[in-house]
Amino acid sequence: MSEVQDIDSFIPGNYTQEDKQLIASVYSPLAEKCKQRFTPEKYEMVTRAFQVACKAHETDRRKSGEPYITHPVEVAKIIFDEMGLGATSVACAFLHDTVEDTEITLENIKEQFGEKIALIIQGLTKISEVVDLSSHSLQAVNFRKILLTISEDIRVIMVKLADRLHNMRTLENMRKDKQLKIASETLFLYAPLAHRFGFYLVKSELEDLCLKYVEAEDYSEISQKLSDTKERRAQYIQEFIKPIEKALENSGLSFEVNGRSKHIYSIWNKIKNKNVAFEEMFDLFAIRIILDSPLDREKSDCWKAYSIVTDFYKPNPDRLKDFISSPKANGYESLHTTVMGPKGRWVEVQIRTERMHSIAEQGLAAHWKYKEGKSNEGALDQWIKHVREILKNPESDAIEFVNNFKSELFDEEIYTFSPQGEVIMLSQGATALDFAFHIHTQIGYHCMGAKVNHKLVPISHTLSNGDQVEIITSKKQKPNEDWLQFAKTSKARSKIKASLKEEKKEVASQGKEILNRKLKAQKIKPSTENYHEIATYLNYQTVLDLFYDIAQKKVELADIKTFRKEGDRIFAPKEETKTKEVKFEGNVREFLNKDADLMIMGAASNEIDYEFAKCCNPIPGDDVFGFITINSGIKIHRNSCPNAVDLISRYGYRVVKVTWNKQKEIAFLSGLRIKGFDDKGLVHKITNIISSDMRLNMQSINIVSEDGVFEGTIHIFVNDKKEMNALLQKIKSLDGMIECSRI
Ligand code: MN
Repeated sequence: MSEVQDIDSFIPGNYTQEDKQLIASVYSPLAEKCKQRFTPEKYEMVTRAFQVACKAHETDRRKSGEPYITHPVEVAKIIFDEMGLGATSVACAFLHDTVEDTEITLENIKEQFGEKIALIIQGLTKISEVVDLSSHSLQAVNFRKILLTISEDIRVIMVKLADRLHNMRTLENMRKDKQLKIASETLFLYAPLAHRFGFYLVKSELEDLCLKYVEAEDYSEISQKLSDTKERRAQYIQEFIKPIEKALENSGLSFEVNGRSKHIYSIWNKIKNKNVAFEEMFDLFAIRIILDSPLDREKSDCWKAYSIVTDFYKPNPDRLKDFISSPKANGYESLHTTVMGPKGRWVEVQIRTERMHSIAEQGLAAHWKYKEGKSNEGALDQWIKHVREILKNPESDAIEFVNNFKSELFDEEIYTFSPQGEVIMLSQGATALDFAFHIHTQIGYHCMGAKVNHKLVPISHTLSNGDQVEIITSKKQKPNEDWLQFAKTSKARSKIKASLKEEKKEVASQGKEILNRKLKAQKIKPSTENYHEIATYLNYQTVLDLFYDIAQKKVELADIKTFRKEGDRIFAPKEETKTKEVKFEGNVREFLNKDADLMIMGAASNEIDYEFAKCCNPIPGDDVFGFITINSGIKIHRNSCPNAVDLISRYGYRVVKVTWNKQKEIAFLSGLRIKGFDDKGLVHKITNIISSDMRLNMQSINIVSEDGVFEGTIHIFVNDKKEMNALLQKIKSLDGMIECSRI
């Protein structure tokens, strides 16, 4: 400690003697430990980092009034003591606020500490930038940026978590509104990340501290109750251990038993979400048996302990979880069982070794400590790879991205198997389609269905733990919009979206050709400027959207004739000659409720001519609107018609409100799209339902079969929507159906 005793030379910067004393008292215990653990070169580097930060922050103060440097020192302590990380991370902790808050530049850091530390500091600086800017709508974008920095170097997030933890521990010095902002940000982002990286202790402390500020009353009530019942819990644990202790000893195991209670936030969560009173909560704590076992005996020792525990207490067969054979994605390993303990209470027992225990509490950091042994870094590496992949595939909707991703952070995993027995880890709720995308993007694109445990299922089938999954593909298959409902993982979703976008581009290129032909026929040059002029005139955001709709035959291009020509360019007619526009935002129903007139279809009182639109084939009971066409009277469309929004937004003044006349009874032609596995006479069953069960008339049936899967359309006459829904329901429930929907 000699350097530290010579305070004046050791602590650079313009500090008072009193400040220097304080800084030294905070720093020296850490310095001592670093000296013991690190090599002399690394220790020198860490010391230098401290001194650089000390000088840089000389004029800064914390809200508490202390010199600012005490904060980086405390962060370094968390990094060293609580996370058990190495010299690079400790140095980064000292320096983490320098680039952002002081004169020091990234260049300075790079010169003095090298590329690696500079990169981490850069990552940390980027994170504060985005978080400081954050308003609610920005959070989503920030989240992605943060993930990007994490995937650059995982130590960025570890230092950030330590920084956040110290800020949360000292939050009382902040203004109330700042407290709430920081706490909710922590709950939104940092606690999930700590969870994902397996920092159980950090995660629970962050959550508890957040609750303390966000729901102060609840927090103090629960912590009071926990301390009131502490004694009783300790007694119960004693009672539980007594009979098994001897047996464990006799079997030659060296162990420790404790009972750690749930943290306050998770108790609070359970009270809120499951509506359980604190007093009725029986899983307030779990009993942990922590074994001191060598690496090669870990698994067998854990099972030995399991066998002893269950000799004394009857296990609940449904509650055995073996995270040793299949660790969680964040590296967690343990054996969980729930047994009937004394006084007839179910008690969760967690059996693990010391190595597993430190991984459970410290996550990734502990992995590094135990690197020499068997390690689950693989799972984490995989996860980081997964993060990079998702980031490479940006979705336009940042909010959706975050929601997907956040739910993945917290999702429990399930283990599924390939036909070759390879383990595929997916998040809970994942479907056969997610599995397909996990195997390979191309397999995902062409996924028709799957065999789960040798039974045929549709792509939407939700997988369970232990399922063996074989994906069935077809060259003809390709992603469609519906798939987004079935895909739960961000990987599958982003791939599907990318493919849909690609397809849109392809369709659009056909639209472009059509437009080019039309333009040429009118001796207009197809050029980017002219495309834009037309797109703007027709209210399209992008030329691509215009091309796409042209290909879909949703656009009337007749108006182009009214454009003025000037050399190669064309110009849209002036505003007043343009047809009247109705501003349309929101949904079809709202629009109809506001502006439209009412027409009753089939009523004797009005003699207006109407037809049912071919694009959506409405039937009685559907929500519909009428659209006045130029040549063929009023066309009736469903509100859900793919063309509805478009028609209303551009020709809102031609829309009339219509309703069904209840008396009228005629059969309406309507279409079904069906897809299924054709090895069971399924088509026959479908036609049976239509004609025998439902007694409906079929107009046409059109089925193509390939690779064991059939696909086709059936046109039938139905009376109304109710009948249609009943029919859909019946067909969908047939074994082997992949899809059945109304056209
Ligand atoms: Mn900080």
